[in-house]
Amino acid sequence: MSTFQPVRGMRDLLPDETEIFRYLITQATKNAQLYGFKEVITPVVEPYELLSAKSGEEIRQRMFTFKDLGDRTVALRPEFTASIARLVTTTLKNEPKPLRLFSVGSVYRYDEPQKGRYREFWQANFELIGSAKPEADAEIILLTNSMMKKTGLTNYAIKLGHVGTLKGILTQEGVDDKTQNAVLQRMDKKDYNAALALVSSEKCRNKLQELIELKSNNPFDTVEQMKAHVKDYEKATAAVENLATILKIVTDCGCEIKTVDPAFARGLEYYTGMIFEVYIPQLDIALGGGGRYDKLIEVFGGEPTPAVGVAYGLDRMALAIQTQKITLHKEEIKRVAVLTIKDEQKSEALKIAQMLREAGIAVEFEVMGRKTAKALEFADKHQVDYAVIVGERELKVGKVVLKDFKQRQQTEVALTELATKIKA
Ligand code: AMP
Repeated sequence: MSTFQPVRGMRDLLPDETEIFRYLITQATKNAQLYGFKEVITPVVEPYELLSAKSGEEIRQRMFTFKDLGDRTVALRPEFTASIARLVTTTLKNEPKPLRLFSVGSVYRYDEPQKGRYREFWQANFELIGSAKPEADAEIILLTNSMMKKTGLTNYAIKLGHVGTLKGILTQEGVDDKTQNAVLQRMDKKDYNAALALVSSEKCRNKLQELIELKSNNPFDTVEQMKAHVKDYEKATAAVENLATILKIVTDCGCEIKTVDPAFARGLEYYTGMIFEVYIPQLDIALGGGGRYDKLIEVFGGEPTPAVGVAYGLDRMALAIQTQKITLHKEEIKRVAVLTIKDEQKSEALKIAQMLREAGIAVEFEVMGRKTAKALEFADKHQVDYAVIVGERELKVGKVVLKDFKQRQQTEVALTELATKIKA
């Protein structure tokens, strides 16, 4: 046996899991259509400079970075947003706004592998570019709710926050951008002590500590508490008001927000406004997350362009689907095995196989040259619905033998009626 294994943190997706991935991609594509998003496919390898510009220290440290043969420093994409921002500042520069772009594919991060955490994983990504209005934020959250519902997931929850709250306080208290990013990184990890330790002003530390400790089971109450808490901070107040507006819009549209987290931060550095996460409370896993990033496109040399987006982790969603034992809504197609008794009927049998496929029936043709009994046994084990046995005597009168594995019976059927009979 070969000792080759996939690279650590990467894995093969076998048919059962691939089926779930394809199902999720189909649902994501349908949602993209329903919300007016067009799909783009961008390269897996991008310039290191582009990917590292605004992703944040944590992601920068975890990128698969290497030199190509032309001595360019490149990396495997750790997410989609940077590629989309590149596209918007170059090829799509003159496209009318808003732009709604959807992508799906593998991304790479040197994370510590564990259940639901890989170094190669898949994301479905949506970016709404060109609007600073809260309706755009709301659309991305509503799309998320729809994505979860469409896949059949039920016990998920949405958590909402706004980086402007923390950043507003930190800025007004004179904390520089670099320290702010470091504080937010630690907040994202819920390592509040480490986050506060980076802030030298005691007043600022206390303000943040109190913000972290705000508690309420009702998101609307939380927002009110936040408003009162930051009333002396102009930018933070504007952020909380913006958060309140978004919360109201999505709630009015029937999308439940489980919590508003006043100290919510996300690992990616480019967020400037509303941020959110969809997760499974029982499993404590994040299925997706996103937010507003109004400065990134400018950083890449484009016109100032507000934007908001979300990425769903397909590996995690597949895990949730398996754990919740959700049946995939898929088109049922009949499966048959086509085989012959003797070799002389092989070419006729292949034509019959083609005829069935054209009628939308899945056919596994006997390609191993096994004896009839063995081929039937294999077909039965692989849970096909029928076997079509092509024999010389039946073929002469335009018929074949149809063996029904479920009913455990077999009949002679005219070729002209074969597809109808199988589909029935
Ligand atoms: P992010 O791009 O960090 O906002 O992550 C978006 C989503 O991608 C998360 O909510 C997860 O579902 C998924 N994700 C992030 N990192 C990993 C990983 N290492 N393995 C699998 N899924 C991941």
